[in-house]
Amino acid sequence: MSASSRYLYLNGKILPYDQAKIHVQSGAVKYGGSVFEGLRAYWNPQQRELYVFRLAEHIDRLYESMRLMRMEHTFTRQELTSAILEVLRKNEYRQDVHIRQSVFIEADGALDATGPVGLAVDAKPHKLTDKPGIDVCVSSWTRISDASMPPRIKCSANYQNGRLAMLEARTNGYDGALILNGRGKLAEGPGACCFIVRRGVPVTPPVTADILESVTRATLLELFRTELGQTVDVRDIDRTEAAVAQEAFLCGSGAEITAVLSIDRLPLGDGAQPGPVTRAIQDCYFSVVRGDKPTYRSWLTPVYGR
Ligand code: PMP
Repeated sequence: MSASSRYLYLNGKILPYDQAKIHVQSGAVKYGGSVFEGLRAYWNPQQRELYVFRLAEHIDRLYESMRLMRMEHTFTRQELTSAILEVLRKNEYRQDVHIRQSVFIEADGALDATGPVGLAVDAKPHKLTDKPGIDVCVSSWTRISDASMPPRIKCSANYQNGRLAMLEARTNGYDGALILNGRGKLAEGPGACCFIVRRGVPVTPPVTADILESVTRATLLELFRTELGQTVDVRDIDRTEAAVAQEAFLCGSGAEITAVLSIDRLPLGDGAQPGPVTRAIQDCYFSVVRGDKPTYRSWLTPVYGR
């Protein structure tokens, strides 16, 4: 478990971590009535600035999730944005952090309660492991679908599908999982989208493959084109295609770009290190998010405003 933050935001107030509480009978606890965003801010030591990556796009998606869950709310973009910036400033972060913003059914109510809703933001230092990549299995669980529990909605309850896949993977000695959708095509990982590389071409499933519409995936589609001169093939991916790919990686705000070194114990490439395409897009992504590529400065929100 990562260390907790000192302060977080709850319903208009900055509170010490231990004091941010909601009722045990809230719709969030009873039914998983909560939508959220996970995003990152990166510290640039030369510029002495902390940059939140693609804040506007995360807020757009939060609005879509609230809309699809028919949550009653009056949050303006300004409030949603400043809640995040306030938490980062109050904690005086000068390091990379992961931010979680949640909107949840706060009161006791029926299954179909649409409010009142609460807003919380927490941010804490969170580093992935130093391992070069992960070994994954193809899960025996099927991805939830747009017809039943839409993955497009970033709802907490959806994550029980990924949790089952993760628990199965860990039980069987893997680091992670890939999940197939109801049509047997590759969907995504428990908390990240996926790409494979076949015959030098990056391929990723479409947004209609029962995936979360990932901000990182959209970022990489653009960076592949503009920085690496490669067009990503956006299409369905068969399970067997993933297993014979030269490379694969997971991507997400939290997962960043995590190389997949093997699938069901079949090594990809040398099975020990990320392949050349994965390394190239990782290098590019990290220089963009940290503010070292001026072309993409519009994707960054400075926290201290120097
Ligand atoms: N899929 C799922 C299920 C996720 O939880 C995440 C992480 N939010 C992603 C994909 C990646 O989305 P993003 O790039 O917007 O973080």
